[in-house]
Amino acid sequence: MFYRARIVAGLAAGLTFTCLASGQLSQPDGGGLERGTLPATWYSQQPKCMEIPEWQVHEYNPDFYIMRQSPCTDYEKPFVFLIFGKERALLMDTGSRNGNLAPALQLLVKNWLARNGRTSIPLIVAHTHEHEDHTFGDKAIQAMNDPAMPVTFIPSEVEATKKFYGIANWPEDIGHVDLGGRILDLIPIPGHSKASVALYDARTGVLLGGDTVYPGRIYVNDFPAFEASLDRLVKFTEGKPVAHILGNHIEQTSTPFLDYAVGTMYQPNEHELALSRGTLLEIDAAVKSMHGTPRRYVMRDISVWPVGPAFMTPGEQATYEKHVKEQRAKMWDQEAK
Ligand SMILES: [Zn+2]
Ligand SMILES: [Zn+2]
Repeated sequence: MFYRARIVAGLAAGLTFTCLASGQLSQPDGGGLERGTLPATWYSQQPKCMEIPEWQVHEYNPDFYIMRQSPCTDYEKPFVFLIFGKERALLMDTGSRNGNLAPALQLLVKNWLARNGRTSIPLIVAHTHEHEDHTFGDKAIQAMNDPAMPVTFIPSEVEATKKFYGIANWPEDIGHVDLGGRILDLIPIPGHSKASVALYDARTGVLLGGDTVYPGRIYVNDFPAFEASLDRLVKFTEGKPVAHILGNHIEQTSTPFLDYAVGTMYQPNEHELALSRGTLLEIDAAVKSMHGTPRRYVMRDISVWPVGPAFMTPGEQATYEKHVKEQRAKMWDQEAK
């Protein structure tokens, strides 16, 4: 064993030079990333809507927060993200139908201000993409008029996104936003939708994957754009440590290859939110294997779903509608499993 280990070590030493170009770190030493924690479970796994707050707030670390909408207000139950720099905070997305994000957001920002001995911080409100389940709260957030968090609102449109992040060539270029001692990189990734973006935080190594990389069904509207965006994201993350890819939804169960039916509110035994760069490589390889002919492709943690006739068959649509109706009918008292 020892002899074999030495050979492996020797080989590894010889390969170090060539591997560095594509490796994420040269030593398993944490890479100086700011650490954070993710919860073991989310409230979406609890059976009683009466016990679930409108928004679950999770402190990943003192300057990075994940908020999740209650499953009882919308089965989409999206995640939104709040990241603080020294001079500004960035809110990514405003929640889905009936989300009512403003009160929970105001409480969180005010608690952060109190803990940091401050009275106000400018708040940038931007988005992972333009779909309604991530922008529904836009108007309410713009109407807050709270002097503790004056809002700069960036609509989820390509032109506004280019301008704000300083992107000359969409979608090829990488944009940036400086929160004060914290520069975030913005990677355009159209495909799921026209204005889809990913956001990389070099301080924590967290990559926000939006609706393009999350444990569930990745609906693809523009397949060639999606394929190019995956390549862009793989290239961007080459040589960078990716601690977690955090997307906008969980639709996958903890059982491999098994998702919840479309429209599920209560989700016992959910898949964890975080995915690794490995999943990104897996999706990229899956899409390449299709050679330009989109099809549904199911992996352990994630599925690719081209939108169009294959998106939802009439049978699936009927099952979905029946399922949502049943779920809503018993939302106050689901049965624990
Ligand atoms: Zn979407
Ligand atoms: Zn979504």
